[in-house]
Amino acid sequence: MNTLFSQLPSIDGLLREPALQALTAQYGHQFVTHTLRQMQEDARTAILKEGALPKWHPAWAQQAATRLAAQQQSALRPVFNLTGTVLHTNLGRAPLAESAIEAVSTVMRGAVTLEYALDEAERGHRDRALASLLCELTGAEDACIVNNNAAAVLLMLAALAPGKEVVVSRGELVEIGGAFRIPDVMRQAGCQLVEVGTTNRTHLKDYRQALSDNSGLLMKVHTSNYQIAGFTKTVDEAELVALGNQVGLPVVTDLGSGSLLDLRQYQLPAEPMPQSLIAAGVSLVSFSGDKLLGGPQAGIIVGKKALIAKLQQHPLKRALRVDKMTLAALEATLKLYRQPELLRQNLPTLRLLTRPAQEMLCQAERLLPQLQPAYDAHFSLEIAPCWSQIGSGSLPVDRLPGYAITFRAKDGRGSTLNALAQRWRRLAMPVIGRIQEQRLWLDLRCLEDETRFVQTLTS
Ligand SMILES: *Cc1c(COP(=O)(O)O)cnc(C)c1O
Repeated sequence: MNTLFSQLPSIDGLLREPALQALTAQYGHQFVTHTLRQMQEDARTAILKEGALPKWHPAWAQQAATRLAAQQQSALRPVFNLTGTVLHTNLGRAPLAESAIEAVSTVMRGAVTLEYALDEAERGHRDRALASLLCELTGAEDACIVNNNAAAVLLMLAALAPGKEVVVSRGELVEIGGAFRIPDVMRQAGCQLVEVGTTNRTHLKDYRQALSDNSGLLMKVHTSNYQIAGFTKTVDEAELVALGNQVGLPVVTDLGSGSLLDLRQYQLPAEPMPQSLIAAGVSLVSFSGDKLLGGPQAGIIVGKKALIAKLQQHPLKRALRVDKMTLAALEATLKLYRQPELLRQNLPTLRLLTRPAQEMLCQAERLLPQLQPAYDAHFSLEIAPCWSQIGSGSLPVDRLPGYAITFRAKDGRGSTLNALAQRWRRLAMPVIGRIQEQRLWLDLRCLEDETRFVQTLTS
């Protein structure tokens, strides 16, 4: 064992080698030395535990180069999202529009008028410019922007009904992935949840009977990710607003995704629109920036001026506010909605959601012969119709027809397919598909850079 230890090179010796000097020039002395120390430690552990030098000995420089490159790689790796879920929360939801990307890089470079009004002496507030734009697009009186829609719901509750009762239908006590549950948020905001109605049926009289001296708010939550079918009854916003007006209580709606456009014109499933709820008289409506809107992660609240002022003045707003990059991306995204006729072209989310199945079929026919030679030996490749999902809390039953290239292991083993999926996850630009019915599916809906895709999968 001692002879093995004596074969370990010294760090000083290694650092004098030309290959390591090149690495030092690239990565810096400190980082290279740190990596060499780790390698030395790994080598000692290998000798103690396995009685042998590590596999990479004596190629220390090469191993150092590999480790340094791996550690220098960004933790946020661009991937090909071929999962079939367009707004994939774990893959960062909406891809941004080019104009939003440009807007972000512009404001990143230096000072901007974030809270500074050029034409008045007074300090502007950071949501001001976007609030005007949001009012134009939704018909609301004012707006407030926070970090995400979960934050928007928390802020609305904490600012409008602290220590008070908030009345919600039992059918709307939703859980969204990642531990967002209405009853929990309610508790965190310091409100008391009052559930009314039953799971399948809630009537206006249920809300009315639940009112007390301590009622603070009537709330509606859009049941984004599930549907109650059959013998059902819900109270719509307009009815609830009428009750709210009678008893002097605001009505707020957590819309989840929301869409500023009527998606039915694109043959997509209908999604409630913030502007319709504002028109129905709802006091505040909240929705996400990075779901169907197609922008950056943000929570958008639109509604009555006096209530938005309460949100803006609440201490939580300071904790939940967004930075200049988010505001820049959101502003650029919202501006695209001024030209709805160009939106399919300019907004990637809408472009991907509305891709014609025929286009994906042609793409599959182009790609299949290019991929085949590299995989033929162990897999049979096929073009297959498939169903994509919108994702991000949209109804899982609403599916979009498309096409996939599928890989079936010739040996019929699940482990062969898993190994393929794993190999693709380790590529320089990982390819993420889904395994289903003993096939690995690459749903082509979100594939735009075909050249890079073919290069990635065949080199
Ligand atoms: C998605 C969703 C949320 C959470 O929104 P984030 O922007 O992800 O924080 C809250 N409520 C509903 C109804 C949702 O669909």
